[in-house]
Amino acid sequence: MTTTRRAAIGAAASLLAAPPLLGLSGAAAQGAAPPATGPAFHRFDVGALKVVVVTDGTNVRADATQGLVVNATAEQVGGAMRAAGIAGPAMRNPFNVTFVETPRGLVAIDVGTGGFPNTDTGVLHANMRAAGLDPARVVQVVHTHFHGDHIGGLTGADGAAVFPSAAVAVPEREWAYWTDAGEASRAPEARRPAFANVQRRFAPYLQRVTRFAPDAEVVPGIRAVASNGHSPGHTSFLIHDGNRQALVIGDAITTPIFFMANPEWYPVFDMDPTMAVESRKRLLDRAATERMPVIGYHFDMPATGRVERAGTGYRLVPAGA
Ligand SMILES: [Zn+2]
Repeated sequence: MTTTRRAAIGAAASLLAAPPLLGLSGAAAQGAAPPATGPAFHRFDVGALKVVVVTDGTNVRADATQGLVVNATAEQVGGAMRAAGIAGPAMRNPFNVTFVETPRGLVAIDVGTGGFPNTDTGVLHANMRAAGLDPARVVQVVHTHFHGDHIGGLTGADGAAVFPSAAVAVPEREWAYWTDAGEASRAPEARRPAFANVQRRFAPYLQRVTRFAPDAEVVPGIRAVASNGHSPGHTSFLIHDGNRQALVIGDAITTPIFFMANPEWYPVFDMDPTMAVESRKRLLDRAATERMPVIGYHFDMPATGRVERAGTGYRLVPAGA
């Protein structure tokens, strides 16, 4: 499978085209996941700012009805999938990085997974090139939070910085939590590797990390919008120019068919579910009221769309739909 083909048809499609080679579990290998829906990248403008959402590929959860949504039954989760036309129980989980061409240079919001074993992730750079973006041109990385699928792409297999000329801006609360030895020692055993991963991924960038406040203008045209709960300092970003705006929501909302339709449901990955639900509702209300496009790290490509009120929750209307 060539890089060109991946870039042209998108990582999700290539994953489903060749499952036996990828060591996927039974349900996924049988093609139970839905077909790929999007391209490798999606461009749009926010005023004079050029935005490009680029996918880093997709992995497949073999059974999304089990262990993903903490406070819903398997029947409810399966029902939400069927309502969205997904037979289940397998479901794709895409990873998408947002790039913004600003007057100050190219900005990356999160950096991709760095590649997970036995999946078709780690294709960000091939897809960046297909979109005409050179990783060496990234002058600023901005992070939503420090979970592994968002910071893995900071370093290569050799531990060296993947973005040689980039400064790195991080939410001050997120940095405070994950770099605190006391927090690490008090954390549940299962979370310890995530603390170690933060140390490892940021190591080559330590001289160029800056911390920003919850509502800071991080780069002219990119403003922090605190959306804590998924992680202690989780932050969304408002891309804005004049009266045009778009909201990069990060993981405040992961899978729209679950967490837009039911904002009070929460995934096992939300570290403080009560706070995460509050943040989710606030962002959804704002996006629907202000009719602004949202961009989701874990949405299917084009990973961008409008938020509409629907029943007791909301729904995503994908760009171009
Ligand atoms: Zn994530």
